[in-house]
Amino acid sequence: MLTSGWGNYPKVDAELFSSSKIQDIISYIGNNNNLIPQGFARSYGDSALNGHILSTRKLDHFIEFDSEKGIITAQAGVLFSEILQIVVPKGWFLPVTPGTKYVTLGGAISSDVHGKNHHKHGTLGQYVESMDILLANGEIKHCSKSENSELFNSAIAGMGLMGVILSATLKLHKIETAYIKQKVIKTRSLEELYELFEINRNYTYSVSWIDITGGARRSVNGLLMLGEHALREDLQVNKEKKDVIAGNPLDVPFYFPNIVLNHSTIKIFNTLYYAKELKKEKNAITYFDSYFYPLDIVNNWNKVYGHRGFLQYQFVVPLEHGLQAIKQILNKIADYGQASFLTVLKTFGKRNDFVLSFPDEGYTLAMDFPLTRGLFPMFDELDKIVLDYGGRFYLTKDAHLSPETFRKSNPEIEKFLEIKAKYDPNNKFQSLQSKRLGF
Ligand SMILES: Cc1cc2nc3c(=O)[nH]c(=O)nc-3n(C[C@H](O)[C@H](O)[C@H](O)COP(=O)(O)OP(=O)(O)OC[C@H]3O[C@@H](n4cnc5c(N)ncnc54)[C@H](O)[C@@H]3O)c2cc1C
Repeated sequence: MLTSGWGNYPKVDAELFSSSKIQDIISYIGNNNNLIPQGFARSYGDSALNGHILSTRKLDHFIEFDSEKGIITAQAGVLFSEILQIVVPKGWFLPVTPGTKYVTLGGAISSDVHGKNHHKHGTLGQYVESMDILLANGEIKHCSKSENSELFNSAIAGMGLMGVILSATLKLHKIETAYIKQKVIKTRSLEELYELFEINRNYTYSVSWIDITGGARRSVNGLLMLGEHALREDLQVNKEKKDVIAGNPLDVPFYFPNIVLNHSTIKIFNTLYYAKELKKEKNAITYFDSYFYPLDIVNNWNKVYGHRGFLQYQFVVPLEHGLQAIKQILNKIADYGQASFLTVLKTFGKRNDFVLSFPDEGYTLAMDFPLTRGLFPMFDELDKIVLDYGGRFYLTKDAHLSPETFRKSNPEIEKFLEIKAKYDPNNKFQSLQSKRLGF
């Protein structure tokens, strides 16, 4: 079957295998080479794609939930949306969550996902207490920070290349309510936004959406969204709180024609969107869903980019000179006449110990571009700027990097490959991405 990641690029003709029985999965691994585990295929590019795809979605059982201590053990194919349904009513929340709840536990660990709280709480992997991993030789290894720690530290952010995560135990975050106290601040320039990020470092959650359609030579409008888990007392005093209206997300039923999203339409959307918020600062209490997962309201929004698909470009540059680097990137994009529909800027805190983990202390920018002929040459230029500033790229979003660029930005790849050789000596686990990057 023809399949792809969230960006609908690249598309690959693959055999998809899925089973709820561990024994069947062991046999499949024994009988096939050149295969990659897949969760919910929410990675944008080619990291969960190959000729043989082992889908873990049928590993969808909860194993244990200690609602006193906030510790949950589940099979790898369980979705974050399913975990939230169980833990939120008991006063717990995911310690780290990406911008969609439609990811599997195994997929999120393999990407070592970050959220809006990285500057305070780090990545998801830092809350994984232990995992069971099925190796290439059919053996299941239990691992944690103290047991088989080398495997643990490289399977987290390991992009499915160490083995198949079968289950994991996660430490959750205590909450009093399912609501978020949100402050939205309208900003008129990157300088103002940077200053506000610094001033508001104490906020648990912070993220900004910016309009980059004119590059950095003119003012860059933005919205900084700060958030804290609301306490019971916040709900009592806040008169604006409205009951949550449950409902199905909207659906994009078909692919849009490719001409719908071009530089002009993206510019119009961004201008209207950033002009919409009239007040300089807005405070509200909002249900966690609308704060963390605004994009999930529209199912399959990726179809808006048409059949050709789109690519996300996400990098991080160190704090020092971060503003300069980002301005240079935005100007280069404007020079190429390209535009990103949705652009997200966040701060990252200190780096963790997981070998291939992406986040480094600094600023991270994620941009979505419809696939056009000029896109790859532009990405090559952006890559050079990111490398010049000592930045890194997020494999989960990538579908274009060259082996040379990746190695320069991720020198730890050699250590990763040494460890992989121990656990997967015949290189059974591979993805289109790992082959493109020459792992
Ligand atoms: C709208 C949207 C917003 C997002 N926001 C963020 C964000 O804020 N922060 C962030 O970090 N990411 C973000 N992402 C990316 C997303 O969190 C990651 O791509 C995540 O890994 C997807 O999980 P998945 O289950 O779909 O995994 P897949 O996409 O299926 O796989 C991702 C990787 O994990 C591996 N893998 C999957 N399951 C297993 C397993 N059981 N064992 C071993 N390896 C496995 C795959 O081989 C692949 O390399 C976003 C994605 C979308 C679509």
